[in-house]
Amino acid sequence: MNTTIKNKKHTHTIYDVIIAGAGPVGLFLACELALAKCSVLVLEKATEVHSPLKQLPLGIRGLSSPTIEALYRRNLFEELEIHKHLKNPHQNAVQGPRRQAGHFAGIPFHDGDIDTTQWKYRLPGSTPASLITEMQELETVFSKRAEALGVEIKRGFAVTGFHQNNERVIVQAGGQSFECKWLAGCDGSRSVVRKTGGFEFAGTEPEFTGYTAKADLLNPEVLQPGRNVTPTGVYMQSQPGYLAIQDFDGGAFHGVAKPVTREHLQEVLRRVSGTDVTISALHIASTWTDRARQATTYRNGRVLLAGDAAHIHAPLGGQGLNLGMGDAMNLGWKLAATIHGKAPEGLLDSYVTERHPIGAQVLDWSRAQAILMKPDPNARALHAIITDLINTTDGATYFAGRVWGVSTQINLGGKHPLIGCSVPNFEFEDGIKIGQLMHNGRGILLDFSHHAALSKLAGGYHQIGYISKPAKNQLGLSAALIRPDGIVAWATDEEINISDLQKAITKWLV
Ligand SMILES: Cc1cc2nc3c(=O)[nH]c(=O)nc-3n(C[C@H](O)[C@H](O)[C@H](O)COP(=O)(O)OP(=O)(O)OC[C@H]3O[C@@H](n4cnc5c(N)ncnc54)[C@H](O)[C@@H]3O)c2cc1C
Repeated sequence: MNTTIKNKKHTHTIYDVIIAGAGPVGLFLACELALAKCSVLVLEKATEVHSPLKQLPLGIRGLSSPTIEALYRRNLFEELEIHKHLKNPHQNAVQGPRRQAGHFAGIPFHDGDIDTTQWKYRLPGSTPASLITEMQELETVFSKRAEALGVEIKRGFAVTGFHQNNERVIVQAGGQSFECKWLAGCDGSRSVVRKTGGFEFAGTEPEFTGYTAKADLLNPEVLQPGRNVTPTGVYMQSQPGYLAIQDFDGGAFHGVAKPVTREHLQEVLRRVSGTDVTISALHIASTWTDRARQATTYRNGRVLLAGDAAHIHAPLGGQGLNLGMGDAMNLGWKLAATIHGKAPEGLLDSYVTERHPIGAQVLDWSRAQAILMKPDPNARALHAIITDLINTTDGATYFAGRVWGVSTQINLGGKHPLIGCSVPNFEFEDGIKIGQLMHNGRGILLDFSHHAALSKLAGGYHQIGYISKPAKNQLGLSAALIRPDGIVAWATDEEINISDLQKAITKWLV
């Protein structure tokens, strides 16, 4: 829906949406909007697409279930290659029930302790609960898809400011002005959009400076393999010379924004590991902290925030990217419906009411881990208790459910336990799974009861596809309404009440 304005002096385009930032969240949001036929311009500060920090091993990223499902539902999952031949470093070499499945604050939980029968609606044919990829792979796959869908990406265009009125946003970038109906700030943790937009960014200060580095070590064997919580901090050597360190300095080093020198990193690593490890050369290093902050709202008029621009926290346990991808999947279809004049009252604001509490939970998850890893006796005492709990069936199932996002549920009200959850990956008799029918980004009315009135009802709404065929395991459902983001908006195991269903449709989709 590009609008081109021409007058005697100039010609310019009014985009439906400008996205600041071509990180994974900005690019995935661009794909969602373009799929829904919106015109999108992405403005990216960096000119260079590649960076060693985005490539393995430093650019490693863990994806959890909601993200993997989102990619699968948009036919992007098959494009990811790395996970097919790279072992998850959080999984130890042990096979069988004591194989490490993940961790909380470095405390492992194991495959054999997880009781998947507690996830009643997770079908055996579901996509994996977790896998690993790299930043560069994700950005490459998303850029390619976005461009194929007609998204314009301008690199070397840092957004420096904007102003908005009731109808438009004028965005300054790279010394030029661009005009759009909506601006999405996906410009990362130091977001200019968030700062210019006057969003309050509330939260807590850090406990530590984290380091990620690639270095040559004279004596790598003095370091223990895996993640090590020591009396003075935490360190991990995933492969010789690939280091992650947490130094509990209250985030002081990260705060001064000094470059990491070989001498400094060696001093920190020696102190934290309690060894005489020697760094002979430092190739690359970056710092991060567990500062946890969240914008108090993700919307101000025609300006929206998503991803790290909206929330920051420690990368412990790999949650930030997944959180941002969830924002994009939630926002895309709602913003597109608003742009097309097809959004029910309050739909766009439900992006904030649905995603803000999920972001707050992830920030707390990260805070709890930072405290547990602290090298002090109080934290050690708590660490011992969590270790006991995580080694029980209920404990491991709880931690796996949270880390993998399998237990994520949006509070949408309603009686059925599936409402607000991701739709199970139902497999129909012909072998097709429901996720494969969601590539077009439309909602679905799933009718296992073959009710004539439902077909007629769905036919009246362009945004809904109607599926009425038996699935191999219907999980007791008679019908369900699935939003474009794969979240169940309404479901019943009983005889279908058409008026209830009609209400759900008009609440979400018209
Ligand atoms: C060491 C480490 C390990 C991590 N591991 C995991 C993990 O395993 N799993 C996980 O889920 N998360 C992980 N994370 C977090 C994850 O990387 C981030 O949450 C994720 O990259 C956020 O994506 P984003 O698109 O919101 O922001 P970013 O990836 O930061 O992208 C923002 C983009 O905006 C651009 N930009 C910035 N300013 C401007 C501007 N003014 N104008 C235009 N463009 C601009 C930037 O150049 C960048 O391309 C990790 C983070 C770190 C540091």
